[in-house]
Amino acid sequence: MAQRMMQEPRPVIEVHSPATLAKIGEVPVNSPLEVRAAVQSARTAFRRWSALALAQRAEVLLAARDHLLAQQEELVTLICQENGKPRLEALVELVYVCDVITFYAKQARRFLAPQRITPHLLRNKKVTTIYNPRGVIGMITPWNFPLILTIGEAIPALLAGNAVVIKPSEWTPLIATRATEILQGAFRAAGVPPEILQVVHGYGDTGGALVDEADMIAFTGSVRTGKAVAVRAAQRLIPVSLELGGKDPMIVLRDADIERAANAAVWGAFTNSGQVCISVERVYVEAPIADEFTRRVVEKTKALRQGIDVNESPTGRRVDVGAMTFPKQVETVEAHINDAREHGAQILTGGQRNPALPGRFFEPTVLANVDHSMKIMTEETFGPVLPIMRVKDADEALRLANDTIYGLNASVWTTDKAKGERIAAQVEAGMTCVNDVLVGFGVTDAPSGGLKESGIGKRHGAPGIRRFCHEQVIVTDRFGMKRELLWYPYEAKTERLLQRALGALFSSKLSAKVKALLGKAS
Ligand code: NAD
Repeated sequence: MAQRMMQEPRPVIEVHSPATLAKIGEVPVNSPLEVRAAVQSARTAFRRWSALALAQRAEVLLAARDHLLAQQEELVTLICQENGKPRLEALVELVYVCDVITFYAKQARRFLAPQRITPHLLRNKKVTTIYNPRGVIGMITPWNFPLILTIGEAIPALLAGNAVVIKPSEWTPLIATRATEILQGAFRAAGVPPEILQVVHGYGDTGGALVDEADMIAFTGSVRTGKAVAVRAAQRLIPVSLELGGKDPMIVLRDADIERAANAAVWGAFTNSGQVCISVERVYVEAPIADEFTRRVVEKTKALRQGIDVNESPTGRRVDVGAMTFPKQVETVEAHINDAREHGAQILTGGQRNPALPGRFFEPTVLANVDHSMKIMTEETFGPVLPIMRVKDADEALRLANDTIYGLNASVWTTDKAKGERIAAQVEAGMTCVNDVLVGFGVTDAPSGGLKESGIGKRHGAPGIRRFCHEQVIVTDRFGMKRELLWYPYEAKTERLLQRALGALFSSKLSAKVKALLGKAS
């Protein structure tokens, strides 16, 4: 029996390109024991890595950036093959990762500098907070941005002194694996243990095993899985950050620049085939410009090119819209469109899988006559679909925009920027753009994350690196007296002193008198 078990083939995940459906590779499925071993070796490596000065870690990562750049063509091609996106979008993933390295290598010193606190009461104490790394960070990630959400997410964690073990999506495991190999080569060259960054593979069970071993989990994915991860992490009381789904509204007001808004709606809805957590998932447009806005959106959508970029063509027009990575997501898109159709929605363009292409391509789709009785307006579609709803005014748009369990991103469109910012502040979202879409994610200086069921915690900016640290407070006595006021033995005179202090410090009557006296004196 044992012999038979030993001969059983190791389970693997076969990876197929969503654009061509051809097999492009495979990875092993790691068992819980293997996940434990990965975390243990990461923890050993962590001790050496975290002992380096922040400036040394920054230097190592900046050198590693050059290793990634040297493999640019290979990485971009692999992202296109594995995820199905156009080359330009794949390149953006690499730009992001290089920028995150550059940004945090420079700013981490400021974000993680010890903070001096002057106590308002206990002035005889020196108080400082310091940021210590947490240990091994487990990262569980989705398939839509297979480089950004794995390596990009790992950078601030590593800089803060942690080791990282990534469990990438079973749909896109190759890119994180290859990028990690490149970075491990850079770490080795710098004399740093390569085990500070590792990848484990598998499905939900492997992710679950990582939750059971790591010191913190940074999860990006669906609300349903995010909740399951949070529940499992709660058993060990380890911190989690959750970057989850969205149903991001676009509010187009009657005084908007219609041309810019229409261009943004089309790109914001269809880039990465709509598989973006912060993509435009629904539009509310004020009635006076609704027809013209919709007409332009449909015209621009019909002009999009769908397919795969051919590597060899160095010049000329590229494809605009790629494939859909995850087969079940295509089914969700179809289900939402069918539901909308049954409830009276009108399909203005698209609405089906692209019959001219072999892979998982869904035609960019624009819908009108939609409302909140339809899934397309209330549930995350995560595909190339743009439903446009006509509203009577800004108040109605705002009410509908907030009528959702999500709160990730949004945009408001108007030529009156002050009005736009006022309305933006009333949208229940972690980030809202005025006259722009999606761009907030690229502003790595600013915290990005969701509220409501879109998640807990922030990436980017100071919180984006501090979340990978625990904040320790160091309180140092300044004067070295033999005994403090509140130490033993307890005495009546100490009690009287405290009573007097109570009145002097906290009595409203006394402070009113002092204020009055000060007022007379001035
Ligand atoms: P998913 O939740 O199905 O899977 C995410 C990851 O969790 C995968 O690696 C998966 O293997 C793993 N997993 C599944 N079950 C698990 C379990 N029980 N325990 C531990 N790990 C488990 O999400 P997906 O389909 O890969 O990604 C799409 C979702 O991700 C969308 O909802 C999208 O909005 C969201 N997303 C959010 C952001 C953000 O920053 N807010 C960014 C990208 C994607």
